[in-house]
Amino acid sequence: MENKKILFVEDSPTMRRIIGNSLKKLGIKEATEAENGVDALEKIQKEDFDLILTDWNMPEMNGQELVEHVRKMDKYKSIPILMITTRGMEDDVMTAIKSGVNGYMVKPFTPELLKKKMIEIFAV
Ligand SMILES: [Mg+2]
Repeated sequence: MENKKILFVEDSPTMRRIIGNSLKKLGIKEATEAENGVDALEKIQKEDFDLILTDWNMPEMNGQELVEHVRKMDKYKSIPILMITTRGMEDDVMTAIKSGVNGYMVKPFTPELLKKKMIEIFAV
């Protein structure tokens, strides 16, 4: 898992720092951040990633719209996507799953939970 190239998409600078630090703690060597869905789409066109972690609520393009775009791209139609959000209602989880995420995690989270979710995703 340490050699996976990860893109994490999050509009809150504080949350970006927390996610970045968590990934470092898990030994991830290559992690790139994006501020919203538009920024993420630009970055995945320039580089290849193995996993996308994305927030839901973001300006410009939210996480659900991002997932829908990514799933239409040949190169990324089956890339693992983990959604990390404050939206923890059952309806939200169902909506996210329908739009094509592979995993779902509600904030706040621990690095250990992030690790568990990532292991689950890569094990499929
Ligand atoms: Mg947000």
